[in-house]
Amino acid sequence: MTDCRLVIHGGAGVIDRASLSANREAQFRQALQDIAAAAFERLTSGASALEVVESAVMALEDFPLFNAGHGAVLNADGIAELDASIMDGATRSAGAVAAVRTSRNPVQLARAVMAQTEHVLLAGEGGDRLAAELGLPQVEGAYFVTKERAHQQALAARLGKVTLDHDSAYNGPAPNDKSGTVGAVARDMCGHLAAATSTGGMTNKRAGRCGDTPIIGAGTWADDDSCAVSATGHGEYFMRTVLAYDVHARLRYGGQSLIDAGNAALASVAALGGTGGLIAVDRYGEIAMPFNSEGMYRAWVGADGLVNVAIYTN
Ligand code: ASP
Repeated sequence: MTDCRLVIHGGAGVIDRASLSANREAQFRQALQDIAAAAFERLTSGASALEVVESAVMALEDFPLFNAGHGAVLNADGIAELDASIMDGATRSAGAVAAVRTSRNPVQLARAVMAQTEHVLLAGEGGDRLAAELGLPQVEGAYFVTKERAHQQALAARLGKVTLDHDSAYNGPAPNDKSGTVGAVARDMCGHLAAATSTGGMTNKRAGRCGDTPIIGAGTWADDDSCAVSATGHGEYFMRTVLAYDVHARLRYGGQSLIDAGNAALASVAALGGTGGLIAVDRYGEIAMPFNSEGMYRAWVGADGLVNVAIYTN
């Protein structure tokens, strides 16, 4: 039996300390703490890494301040189009959905694509139709839209920008203290690894734009022989560097440590001009959480079994 590990994130970006009120910061920290504690409890009770990353990401999707599920950012048409993926390190099975609009928990649908179809990635209406057929909860588009996200999108549209959730475009009148994309990686009692990621993408993106999150190998990866990875940041750069698979390849073929692999893979993103971060756990239980943005909302449980929460360097 191996020790369990868990890491979750709520997005990386320019998280302006001055504009994040103590009250809001406390809400984020509490949500990360509670969701990580519940997920780790499940792991130590014998749940599989796959089950735990799915349920942790569902809880993060349901929390309105994160950019996933309820509270996701809006595209240029003012609509939430959601991306999610999940991967099982034990079998290297994977499932993903892109630009779905009515499925309440996109990560749950991604798992259904993995478990109940012969496909890996379903996009748009076909994804939502599968969810409805399987009886997964469906909602009106309005369910995802919070007042703050509508305000944020209107401002980005006025500035003519497509932005990461925390970009400085939001400094000024718009609320800029919300967090981003969500994800989870875990190692369970049997030593299996899994990863899941879910997002509304980037504010004011073109309708139909998909980022790294639903792309297996870019935003999400898990392989029991190496590591599990969930990424967050400017997705186009993470796709162009195949970030999550790059971390895996550096372990598998380059013999690098998880910390070195995570830093080097993120350096490739930075070299192209991209910002963001990643969370990862390897087969030995090492954890890495590098980011090159001002902050990354995260919580983790290492060998001591205690939940840690951090936003900036602490
Ligand atoms: N990676 C996501 C995307 O580009 C956004 C984020 O992580 O904040 O869609």
